[in-house]
Amino acid sequence: VPAVEARHVRKVYPGERGVLALDSVSLETRPGEFVSILGPSGCGKSTFLRCVAGLETISEGHLAVQGKKVSGPPDNIGMVFQRDALLEWRSVENNILLPIEFKKKATSAYRQKMADLLKLTGLQDFSNRYPQELSGGMRQRAAICRALIDDPALLLMDEPFGALDALTRDQMNVELQRIWLETRNTVLFVTHGIAEAVFLGDRVVVFSPRPGRIAEVLTIDLPRP
Ligand code: ADP
Ligand code: ADP
Repeated sequence: VPAVEARHVRKVYPGERGVLALDSVSLETRPGEFVSILGPSGCGKSTFLRCVAGLETISEGHLAVQGKKVSGPPDNIGMVFQRDALLEWRSVENNILLPIEFKKKATSAYRQKMADLLKLTGLQDFSNRYPQELSGGMRQRAAICRALIDDPALLLMDEPFGALDALTRDQMNVELQRIWLETRNTVLFVTHGIAEAVFLGDRVVVFSPRPGRIAEVLTIDLPRP
């Protein structure tokens, strides 16, 4: 089953004027595919991701994750946002373990997985540090670890590097590609940046300025190492 299956998804935010954010969006992922979602501000990219994550309800259409109709936050999704949303009063490793605690699973079973992720992201020496001691790029790496700790079927990233300076951002794209080549999760990656969308994606989905309309779907087959 596809990790994400969207058919004619429509989303209207309620309110006096009713904002049409998504208008008939259809998209199906292939297993292990890295999908970049590109488009100008306000065209519904974040809304689409939040609908997939079950954080918003759709108004019309069909939306399923792993073959299951989305109704509320499913537990097999990892998310990384522009602002990393790390808890400042918890160490890096206690931030990474948050989803495990949230699901009321035993954190002891995840020690090895956490060590692997810390190593993979180059944070192995920072597990006991606190978020304010880390650089922006390191914070996002910690957020990526947190998103991956429970082996999500799907990784959703909403402009994860949008708040970083250009140089760090480029480095993080290289990092993310390296990480993804290890994990091979299905990814939806939202960005404004054409270069990073193309660099990272197996496929680039372009949302048009008309709310949430997919203007064109480009499939870019990149040679992978
Ligand atoms: P982006 O960086 O994706 O363009 P925005 O800066 O437009 O996002 O929005 C940031 C936050 O504000 C989001 O969580 C979004 O849900 C919320 N938001 C955006 N537009 C509106 C709106 N018209 N009314 C209420 N909330 C909004
Ligand atoms: P993008 O991520 O592409 O910048 P968004 O999904 O944030 O676009 O926003 C799509 C449209 O929906 C915009 O017109 C935005 O103002 C509106 N919007 C986003 N979040 C909300 C919200 N919580 N309430 C009302 N309108 C919103």
